[in-house]
Amino acid sequence: MSGNIKLDVSALTEKRQSLEFTVPAQDIDLGSEGIILRSDVRMTVVADNDENRLELTGRIVTEAETVCSRCLKPIIRVEPIEFDVRYVKPEDFGSDEESEVESEDLLTDILTSDEIDITEVAREQLLLDIPVRIYCQEDCRGLCEKCGADLNLIDCKCSDNEIDPRWAALKNIG
Ligand SMILES: [Zn+2]
Ligand SMILES: [Zn+2]
Repeated sequence: MSGNIKLDVSALTEKRQSLEFTVPAQDIDLGSEGIILRSDVRMTVVADNDENRLELTGRIVTEAETVCSRCLKPIIRVEPIEFDVRYVKPEDFGSDEESEVESEDLLTDILTSDEIDITEVAREQLLLDIPVRIYCQEDCRGLCEKCGADLNLIDCKCSDNEIDPRWAALKNIG
């Protein structure tokens, strides 16, 4: 993906450097994950550069739309995402240790070139932040399996054998 934003690590001359990126929403494809970005992704990043280690601490701001896993109602997420990724130079790790590093600390990546794909970092962080199953409210009742009605809004009475206690009480009044 040539359109991705790249951070040139060799150009980081200072030990600590603040960076800003704007990744166009269309460059981050999360459609297959059921997530639509409603605005460009703004990133502020502080790069801490050590001899053999690079740490990026940052914040991502965007408007992401997904749907409730039960009732399919759209959910907009606007809270900033804080993130922290660490990179180590490959020469500091033998091939055996490489896999060890990954399993010990999922946030540590091996720096395989002088470039870090910022667009990919944004994509990964968005995926980590938005759970696969998300609900509009904790006790969302979802949709009726038979008629598709939103059970948060109406009681369609499709499940006759499962009498809601509230309706049972009303029957007793009559
Ligand atoms: Zn819901
Ligand atoms: Zn129904």
